[in-house]
Amino acid sequence: MDEIRISGLEVYAYHGVFPEENKKGQHFYINAVLYTDTRKAGKTDELSDSTHYGLVCEEMARAMKEQCFHLLERAAEYVAERVLLTFPLIREIELEICKPEAPIALPFSNVSVKIRRGWHTVYLGLGSNLGDSGQYLKTALEKLSASKQIRGVKSSEWIRTKPYGVEEQPDFLNGAAVMETLFTPWELLDFLHIVEAEAGRVRKVRWGARTLDLDILFYDDRVIDSENLTIPHMDMVNREFVLVPLAGLNPYLRHPITGRTVQEMLKDLRERV
Ligand code: ATP
Ligand code: CA
Ligand code: CA
Repeated sequence: MDEIRISGLEVYAYHGVFPEENKKGQHFYINAVLYTDTRKAGKTDELSDSTHYGLVCEEMARAMKEQCFHLLERAAEYVAERVLLTFPLIREIELEICKPEAPIALPFSNVSVKIRRGWHTVYLGLGSNLGDSGQYLKTALEKLSASKQIRGVKSSEWIRTKPYGVEEQPDFLNGAAVMETLFTPWELLDFLHIVEAEAGRVRKVRWGARTLDLDILFYDDRVIDSENLTIPHMDMVNREFVLVPLAGLNPYLRHPITGRTVQEMLKDLRERV
């Protein structure tokens, strides 16, 4: 991706763990790399096709001054999020906040915290087979859209499917959705668990009947294998009720490990069973 770079933006602010720092304040210097596609602006020469770096500087300075944090880490997180939420064409930001006047009783030239944050593309699988399934799924999508950390939610068609794993239960309504998020994969999982709980989901048996099930299918092309999270979703290749709605959203999406597209996985599955 292309970059717009800002360096040495000076802001007088009040962050620090010592009360003295919060009272008197000191100089901070910001370096930022804004990752964005400049191709269109490069062709049209129109500012409206790009991001106004002057406004980005003003917004970063405002964010730095409006709160008083103990940690540079917190200030950096706060400023990065503000930029990503305010300027839609910026997909990622690398942000360094420097504090050369920090209270360190030794000679030093600078101390800084540098982070990289951005929007991630996520595909979710949704399902319900208890109560008013259509309403549970609709409400879930509304709750996802209402989160500040999620944007651009787009859902597939809903399909009626036979239960998987445990067969003695009502039919399912299934679908998929794509969105962009600022959440990390684990933050997203926690958020999905909250939305499931708010739909009255009770976890008894795996694959049992539920009002709402939200699974992370893909998170960019990340591959995660941890105790409570596996991405891409492990059993996707065996589930038509996942692959069919997913193909409706993006048949050419590729599995980051096997390299197979959704369309190919669906074809493989149909040939196997
Ligand atoms: P399946 O995961 O096979 O579709 P399920 O959806 O019925 O089964 P749940 O009871 O909803 O299973 O989830 C059990 C646990 O699976 C969750 O608490 C979560 O920690 C873990 N998990 C692992 N990978 C994922 C993922 N990609 N998306 C959602 N949950 C996941
Ligand atoms: Ca599931
Ligand atoms: Ca689940």
